[in-house]
Amino acid sequence: MREKIRALQKEFDKSAKSASSSKEIEDLRVMFLGRKGLVTSLMQDLKECLPDQKKEFGKLINDIKNSISESLNNSFEYLKACEIEKNTLEEQVDITLPGMKNFLGKAHPISQMIDKMIFILSQMGFSVYHSPELETEYYNYSGLNYPDDHPARDMQDTYYIDKTYLLRSHTTSFQQRVLENHTPPIRMICTGKCYRNETISTRSHVIFHQIDAIYIDKNVSFSDLISIIKEFYSKLFDENVEIRIRSSYFPFVKPGIEVDVKCTICNGNGCRLCKESGWLEVAGAGMVHPEILANGGLDPEVYSGFAWGGGIERVYLLLHGISDIRLFLENDFRFLEQFP
Ligand SMILES: [Zn+2]
Repeated sequence: MREKIRALQKEFDKSAKSASSSKEIEDLRVMFLGRKGLVTSLMQDLKECLPDQKKEFGKLINDIKNSISESLNNSFEYLKACEIEKNTLEEQVDITLPGMKNFLGKAHPISQMIDKMIFILSQMGFSVYHSPELETEYYNYSGLNYPDDHPARDMQDTYYIDKTYLLRSHTTSFQQRVLENHTPPIRMICTGKCYRNETISTRSHVIFHQIDAIYIDKNVSFSDLISIIKEFYSKLFDENVEIRIRSSYFPFVKPGIEVDVKCTICNGNGCRLCKESGWLEVAGAGMVHPEILANGGLDPEVYSGFAWGGGIERVYLLLHGISDIRLFLENDFRFLEQFP
């Protein structure tokens, strides 16, 4: 009898260990403690024992019955709690849903273009000069030789804050500031936002970006200007560009020119981008006017230099065949995401 009780205990321990759900615990309860269970069957075997053994074995069987019952209760509570937790988690987290995408920020296309331009020019020895957007009339116009009656000064074109201050209409406003504070050789660039009171359209906006460069030293020649511009646009467009010069007028240069590069899309054969001309207009430039050098405290007999500049949106429109300048300021992800 003693052996039978021990064997029952062993069997229960083994079965309880492998039970992994509340259903299996319930099955064990029926198997061991049920009306036709193993413990009940052991109780019946007790009848065949001698009277003095009945008491001892009866107590042992009773103890084992209580122990099994307690053990099953504890396991049942524990496994039930685990199942509830698991079910709740499964309800909360639908693992079949697609994962959340991480949004990785990136620079605005105009910032990317500015960074590339600065990188190219810094390799050519130019440094960046930060010039204010809120500028004085002098640095924006008078100091750059703009006559008092020049149409660009008109209220229609320029955002005046008061008689002295305005929002710079071009980054060329940095020239006099540089000349006043630096001694040659000077190789500086300025880039950033400019403001003009224009009607907003596909080709123009009240806010746009420019880049301007100035190079002053002894014996700087016109051919230096052409070679620097050619090298700059070749690197910017990632190919060896051909340059065309047209005569033009800007108050701060003499002579003034406009620079075209051969259309990189059609290789000069004519396409929609270059309006069938085969050329793309990219910059205004020229040799720095002697008056500008004198305004900056430099002797025009000793020093010479060149300056050039252009719109940044314009180059971007050309490079990517974009037809509407307004897209740059609309913060439309569908547009911005196309420029990795
Ligand atoms: Zn073309």
